[in-house]
Amino acid sequence: MHTDLVAALDIGGTKIAGALVDGHGRIQARAQRATPAQEDGDTVMGAVEAVLAELTASPLWGRATAVGIGSAGPVDASAGTVSPVNVPGWRDYPLVRRVRAAAGDLPVELIGDGVAITAAEHWQGAARGHDNALCMVVSTGVGGGLVLNGRLHPGPTGNAGHIGHISVDLDGDPCPCGARGCVERIASGPNIARRALDAGWRPGPDGDASAAAVASSARLGDPVAVASFERAAQALAAGIAATATLVEIDIAVVGGGVGKAGDVLFAPLRKALTDYATLSFVQRLAVVPAQMGTDAGLVGAAAAALSRTPDATAAHV
Ligand SMILES: [Zn+2]
Repeated sequence: MHTDLVAALDIGGTKIAGALVDGHGRIQARAQRATPAQEDGDTVMGAVEAVLAELTASPLWGRATAVGIGSAGPVDASAGTVSPVNVPGWRDYPLVRRVRAAAGDLPVELIGDGVAITAAEHWQGAARGHDNALCMVVSTGVGGGLVLNGRLHPGPTGNAGHIGHISVDLDGDPCPCGARGCVERIASGPNIARRALDAGWRPGPDGDASAAAVASSARLGDPVAVASFERAAQALAAGIAATATLVEIDIAVVGGGVGKAGDVLFAPLRKALTDYATLSFVQRLAVVPAQMGTDAGLVGAAAAALSRTPDATAAHV
């Protein structure tokens, strides 16, 4: 099996993580900086370069053959640019060119963060062995990615699988993306919490009004908290069913902070799927929790970089 290393970058609105990852998906070295998300673009790039400088100083760096980047989106893989919603200093920012310059001209592969998570789950996690899968991250936002015919399907710009912005409520609430009734507008953590608060749910003495606190109340049987999760589950089910009906996936993997809610989310999600995934070829669709932990973005970025190398199939990417 291919055992050379690749460098991986996981770029989000909170942190920039980097690693050297081997052909088995094991992290051999790592570096991290906080994202100076509100600073100008070159200051943000300085944090990326600081992470890369730590990696290039590693004695293992000489074995690195490529760099994979999973970035908060939107990304444009065809242009090598990124415009993360939460990093206003980066608009059409030439990230690929800048990373290549900082990484000794190694080849650079850019994908969106949802696609990176999907690559990780397919390579090492819950979607392993599945040739047609949808993987989702349900947290502050709702992201995702697709595996089709056994291969990651990033699409021409690296954004395919953006299930959070499929509309499941034609006349629903406006979404920050500009559309209405998007899955994210109903199922994200902040929207689960907002809906519960609007319906009269109140946080406990610790004042925690997050979706995780709503999940705790739902576990104790609070009907308003239960109803907010049921509504989120309904939106996720409609989006998953639409995806399955369109491209015949056989598994949907749900991760992220909301995905950690357990049965509070998965029980109504599986029930709602029976309402929406109705045709014979989608009725056996499985919905399971994600298996990859906090390193999913790094492992997925590494998978994307490995997929560029000639013996990529050895890595089952
Ligand atoms: Zn939207």
